[in-house]
Amino acid sequence: MTAGRRAVLAANLMAVRDRIAAAARAAGRAPEEITLVAVSKTFPAQDVAALLDLGVSDFGENRDQEAAVKVAEVAALRATAGPVPRWHFVGQVQRKKAGSVASYADVVHAVDRPGLADALGRGAAHGERELEVLLQVSLDDDDASAGRAGVAPDRVVELAEHVLGVPRLRLAGVMGLAPREGDAAVAFARLAHVAAQVRSLSVTAVVVSAGMSGDLEVAVAHGSTLVRVGTALFGDRAIKSEHGLDGPPGD
Ligand SMILES: *Cc1c(COP(=O)(O)O)cnc(C)c1O
Repeated sequence: MTAGRRAVLAANLMAVRDRIAAAARAAGRAPEEITLVAVSKTFPAQDVAALLDLGVSDFGENRDQEAAVKVAEVAALRATAGPVPRWHFVGQVQRKKAGSVASYADVVHAVDRPGLADALGRGAAHGERELEVLLQVSLDDDDASAGRAGVAPDRVVELAEHVLGVPRLRLAGVMGLAPREGDAAVAFARLAHVAAQVRSLSVTAVVVSAGMSGDLEVAVAHGSTLVRVGTALFGDRAIKSEHGLDGPPGD
């Protein structure tokens, strides 16, 4: 970690915090209502440690193999002192990876089917841990969603009820990605509607995970309580993918 890199991360963090605060105020909300998750995929453990020192508490990863290594590296870097990070798994979880993800993640964002919830619950039980889970809601307009992740809005309540019955899992809310094409505001409004339905099933299901580097303002305007920010904090991942460090999402 060079002083230069540390300065870049500090400046980026200040800019992102300013954007979140401005978006919150514009929506008549308190900035403290919105959790920042720093999505550190493709970036090293040293960057995570630097942001921890700067007061960031939550970090996101989307590939099991990379995440498992990085979580251990950060723990080793921080063995003696300082705040402990909360790890969010924000990518697709393959069933066979569920046990591994459940061993280090504190929050899993992309639960979209009962079998995955069951597998995460078994993994959490095995590790004698508890996991917070968010239900990923498909926000695509039509059958373009085929192949993309997420449970259809009209199936979310059913999935929520399933998760509520799985030991070791705590239903924490919902997560959504704006469609690549189309209106992010429409998508996030749809997510807010589904979030209210899920909240009515469980008082702990208060998280709305929505918004990334490019659309966090729109998400906060529509009730996001948690933004997942990678590029605006760490820089461009494309530079790294040329070196083969950025694989397909979700392993
Ligand atoms: C990578 C990723 C992000 C961060 O995206 P940026 O545009 O770099 O901020 C957020 N959410 C998920 C699910 C991701 O995979």
